[in-house]
Amino acid sequence: MRIAIAGFSHESNSFYSQPTQLKDFGVCEGAAAIGQYEGTFHEIAGYIAGAEQFGYELYPLLAAVATPGGPVTAAAYEHFVGRILSGLEAAPKLDGVLLALHGAMVAEGFPQADGETVRRVRALMGDLPIAVTHDYHANVPPELVAAADSLIIYKANPHIDQRERGLQAASILTRQIRGEVQPKMALVKPEVLFNIYFHNTSVAPMQPLMQAAIELESQAGILGCSIAGGYQYADVPYMGPSVVVIADGDEERARREAVRLGEQMWASRDQLRASVPGPAEAVRLAVASEETPVCLLDMGDNIGGGSSGDSTFVLEQLLAQEADGWVASVWDAESAQGCFAAGVGGQVQLRVGGKTDDMHGPTLEIAGRVRTLHDGSYEERERRHGGGRYFDQGPTAVVQVGKGLLLLNSERACPNSIHQITCAGIQPEQQRILVAKGAVAPRAAYEPVCPRLIEVASGGATAIDRPADEYRLARKSLYEWR
Ligand SMILES: [Zn+2]
Repeated sequence: MRIAIAGFSHESNSFYSQPTQLKDFGVCEGAAAIGQYEGTFHEIAGYIAGAEQFGYELYPLLAAVATPGGPVTAAAYEHFVGRILSGLEAAPKLDGVLLALHGAMVAEGFPQADGETVRRVRALMGDLPIAVTHDYHANVPPELVAAADSLIIYKANPHIDQRERGLQAASILTRQIRGEVQPKMALVKPEVLFNIYFHNTSVAPMQPLMQAAIELESQAGILGCSIAGGYQYADVPYMGPSVVVIADGDEERARREAVRLGEQMWASRDQLRASVPGPAEAVRLAVASEETPVCLLDMGDNIGGGSSGDSTFVLEQLLAQEADGWVASVWDAESAQGCFAAGVGGQVQLRVGGKTDDMHGPTLEIAGRVRTLHDGSYEERERRHGGGRYFDQGPTAVVQVGKGLLLLNSERACPNSIHQITCAGIQPEQQRILVAKGAVAPRAAYEPVCPRLIEVASGGATAIDRPADEYRLARKSLYEWR
């Protein structure tokens, strides 16, 4: 049995000012993709592990991934889809295809880009079995469910179960190839937006929903049951949560169960109003907290949700309120460079952050002393959001500013690993306030260190209260917008 595997993954924020281009993607071709992912917690690691477990030969095409950002350019989209299709065409006889797609990619011309990708693979491969895995933040459209044989979505947010979901998809695919099962899928789209604030799968309202999905999946005849929280920063027709049930040979049962879970989600609609402090109030709460360190989740500059990483709203408040013992990171290659020029111990006058566009706060005039300089690479061996192991935030400086530490990096880096700051010599447990630019994802890295986490309703490309009239394609019938 020979299975082609490919990954083409991007979470695209329709509201971020910078498009995602070809050069923004990290790409591994052929066998290099195996070297890159084997031994990680990513779903492609699950595909790889499945080869031995389920007895197939891997035919790796490519894995392309970029940090979340603005919509993918047509050139980049066509390039990578073209590579997948030409790789499939050139392949020796295949028995199935495993596709790791994010589920919230927006490409120029194709708002529901992952649906288009699977449609094209289906058109090329005829009735060859195709299994797809998606991120929990997928905005699943009907055309994707129509084109794939099975779709499995991460169940955990922070995403710490990707490897298991990859294995699950591989298991369904190989059983289908052997004629042991007949996956039949149904998709239901509850008419809610389900704000990212409520996406933590460890607490209500998402936890009981996910529990119901897990229980259903344990029943005989059910091959998969997934709930996607959706991704509210993609302005696309099927933005919002999804329920996807795969039943063995029984489309009617899949439909019935998906409707039941969809109704359970709909019943939670009145719990979906978020009341979240803004930067000034959140910093006040953190300063006054007896439990430390406090993690401030900067939701408006959620880099993993496609924001700039150079927002200054929270930093501005830390400085204005003369907070003690804080650590904040800002993506600002120019300022980092200034620190390298000044050297360790050098006094610097910097213009920090707010440079990408006018959505992420003012550029701040900051005076400080360069404390340390680093190459910015780090390794994460624990199970953390995204399942990655090797990271690089580029040349990185730590500047003492007042009673806090400002980390300036040269590449946008999601705070999915605490080693983003420990690699720069910062000891998190000795601090009082740690700012993580994210919503739920940083919890896996920061909860072990911080007894208290406070969400911050800050401005930016991932502001959690974007008004409905800024959307063009999303369904205006969603409950929160009525
Ligand atoms: Zn996600």
